[in-house]
Amino acid sequence: MEMQLYNTLTRKKEVFKPIEEGKVRMYVCGPTVYNYIHIGNARPMIVFDTVRRFFEYKGYEVNYVSNFTDVDDKIIKKANEEGVSAKEISERYIQAVLEDMQGLNIKPATKNPKATEEIDEMLSMISNLIEKGYAYEKNGTVYFRTRSFKEYGKLSKKNIDDLEAGHRTIQVVGEDEKEDPLDFVLWKPKKDGEPFWESPWGNGRPGWHIECSVMSKKYLGEQIDIHAGGEDLIFPHHENEIAQSEAANGKEFAHYWMHNGFLNINNEKMSKSKGNFFTVRDIGKQYAYDVLRFFMLSGAHYRMPLNFSQDLMEAAKSGLERIKVAVERLDDIAQKKNNATITEAEKQVETELKALQDKFDASMADDFNTADAISAVFEMVKLVNVGIRETSDYTLVEDAKKRIVLLMDVLGISVEPVKEMLDTEIEQLIEERQLARKNKDFQRADEIRDILLDKGIVLKDTREGVKWTRA
Ligand code: AMP
Ligand code: ZN
Repeated sequence: MEMQLYNTLTRKKEVFKPIEEGKVRMYVCGPTVYNYIHIGNARPMIVFDTVRRFFEYKGYEVNYVSNFTDVDDKIIKKANEEGVSAKEISERYIQAVLEDMQGLNIKPATKNPKATEEIDEMLSMISNLIEKGYAYEKNGTVYFRTRSFKEYGKLSKKNIDDLEAGHRTIQVVGEDEKEDPLDFVLWKPKKDGEPFWESPWGNGRPGWHIECSVMSKKYLGEQIDIHAGGEDLIFPHHENEIAQSEAANGKEFAHYWMHNGFLNINNEKMSKSKGNFFTVRDIGKQYAYDVLRFFMLSGAHYRMPLNFSQDLMEAAKSGLERIKVAVERLDDIAQKKNNATITEAEKQVETELKALQDKFDASMADDFNTADAISAVFEMVKLVNVGIRETSDYTLVEDAKKRIVLLMDVLGISVEPVKEMLDTEIEQLIEERQLARKNKDFQRADEIRDILLDKGIVLKDTREGVKWTRA
């Protein structure tokens, strides 16, 4: 099946052609970790995880890399406010982001590199850029010589001379030694109380843009298929990434650039700096995480703005419930294991379900139109609610159920009914966990605790042994 995706670089939909047959190399700019993520940050996570899942469903192997920016002014500021190290702040919020991502059913990335663990590679890319004349050092700061990269502006469609005119009026304090106001920082010297690394240009830390160029190259190679992020990253972040990578490697960096629109609140961008945000955790107290995910995918096309509101969340909640109820009914019927003749009308249901799956696929293959794909699922629900009866043959029922579950899985939403665990099953697992602990097999012990937690079973160590409760 041919897939079309909108490429910010060419401003049109293009047929997806991978660099390597059957494989996708994909890099998604990740969060700066100084706080809990808000639901705006969750939008690119959900959108691009769904893109990944659709590629996988179509048989591609996806190498998915998404970084954590764990050295940054905001992290340092927060560390100073709390009187702890920057590392303590970044580690704390990386853990929190990973938990939120798990809740949102974001598949673990192939790799989540951290900027602070890739400094050596950054030093070598910066040195390479200096050698080639694309960068220069002044008093411990290394700058990228923007004008030396002839294609600068090709992603954001900005004309370099217009940029220059804008910049002349806004001089950044302390950067007046630049050759050209357009030049941007690759390495900056250490200030008091800041984390630093040694470099040929003195102690300091990397600029933000160089991180992604380096991590993408290290984990995916010099050329990748898809580079993605929120639309605010087009300029300057992605424009600068292109300049650095293409200048250093001498080849096109990413073939397709994908950008999600903003999540707004009262038609204004939700952002940490404006303070008009809800964290994923805030919303998680009010709604199940899958409702938030369903809202993001059903509310608008990923490139369009999406306005967050209670009404839309309620609509997402009841829509998702409708799908779950239909699947649960199919599950109940299937368990009866009826052997019956499949009627002509039921054969028709089967044919139509297949056609709706094709419709789902076609919507997704048209630049990931998840809203249309979801309407195909709703049509399936309508069809089975009417066309499948309590006495229908179980193979038919199973098939219908599997189809809906599969498509919802492509969207990253599990609608498979969860069976309550029996007390005896729980007790058996607890016993196995105790044994694993005794044998110092802590990995298995943790695994079992997680399995139980997933089923809503909470364990408590007491003097009388392990007690459990249903959460
Ligand atoms: P940041 O931590 O600000 O660098 O953001 C991490 C990711 O979230 C980037 O891809 C941003 O573009 C994206 N992002 C931030 N705010 C929003 C928003 N309100 N709506 C959609 N995406 C956002
Ligand atoms: Zn980036």
